Amino acid sequence: MKIAIATGNAHKVKELSKLLDIEGIEFVSLKDLGFTGDIIEDGKTFAENAMIKAKFICDKYGIPAIADDSGLCVDALNGEPGIYSARYASKDGGNSDDRANIDLLLENMKSIPSGERSGRFVCSMAFCAPDGVALTVDGICEGHITCDIRGEGGFGYDPVFYCTKLCKTFGEASDEEKNNVSHRYNACKLLAVKLKEYINN
Ligand code: IMP
Repeated sequence: MKIAIATGNAHKVKELSKLLDIEGIEFVSLKDLGFTGDIIEDGKTFAENAMIKAKFICDKYGIPAIADDSGLCVDALNGEPGIYSARYASKDGGNSDDRANIDLLLENMKSIPSGERSGRFVCSMAFCAPDGVALTVDGICEGHITCDIRGEGGFGYDPVFYCTKLCKTFGEASDEEKNNVSHRYNACKLLAVKLKEYINN
């Protein structure tokens, strides 16, 4: 069975295909399908945005599709930056660069003491099929926000996210260490179970 991965990010296609390696499934990318447009993500939650993308591709190409949406949620900021993680520091609604997002986050948290800086990465993954099956799963990775930048690895908020399980920031972790505990990894594991059930039915 062919399943589309509804992301234009080639790195994600590779990562998700590897994590969701299931007998009987062949993953195809948006590039394979010839899709180059933008999908408007106007949901209010990670799960809604993931489902908007999966459903759009499923409806357009008539094959099952999966999509993900993720970001950082900080308790002391009432869940911000949340679904706005990629454009947190943006002035025009477009994506802002990683460094600007980190600087704004640290600025907004400068009065928050170290014991109250908890937060988590969240990844929602959605699956949508032409037969009407539609489901989402959430993967999380707990940690806290450091007061300064630590490490040069990763992307996004990695250098200020101290992962409880790894006892270091994602910026200090190797790709392998991060990929074994990340929100995306946890969401993929949950989705893999659901996909196996779907295929067997
Ligand atoms: P996306 O939905 O996976 O494209 O993620 C949206 C935004 O959330 C990214 O642009 C990053 O700012 C942030 N983000 C998501 N996952 C990660 C991660 O693993 N590390 C650091 N930042 C992340």
